[in-house]
Amino acid sequence: MDATVILRKHKLSKTTGRIEVLKLFIESDQALSEREIHSRIEYSFDRASIYRTLKTFSENGILHPVYGKNEMTKYILQQTPEEHLHFKCSECEKVMCLPEIKFNDIHLPEGFIKKEANYLVIGICDNCNL
Ligand SMILES: [Zn+2]
Ligand SMILES: [Zn+2]
Repeated sequence: MDATVILRKHKLSKTTGRIEVLKLFIESDQALSEREIHSRIEYSFDRASIYRTLKTFSENGILHPVYGKNEMTKYILQQTPEEHLHFKCSECEKVMCLPEIKFNDIHLPEGFIKKEANYLVIGICDNCNL
């Protein structure tokens, strides 16, 4: 996957900042927070700009938020639009998607309306469990 191809597909302008942020997500197999991006990115990009970029990317379905609130929110590349399980490793702190586990059949009781769902399992990942 190429950052410029993704931006073109979503009709977003190809700014250096957007490309660099997207590259980090493409290279990462885990969710990243705005703070983690700021510490990894080589391009000089202030935190407010990173935050805005993350917001644009999630509004466009390129990323989705996985875990945490406000500036601690971790984002990851959107692999599937379907609802799926997320996993957080309590050893290495890695947060990842498990897109093969789906939740299409969750029915709430009468009178309840779902606005969003976040299925998170906390445990030990396959890497830490060696
Ligand atoms: Zn782990
Ligand atoms: Zn996910």
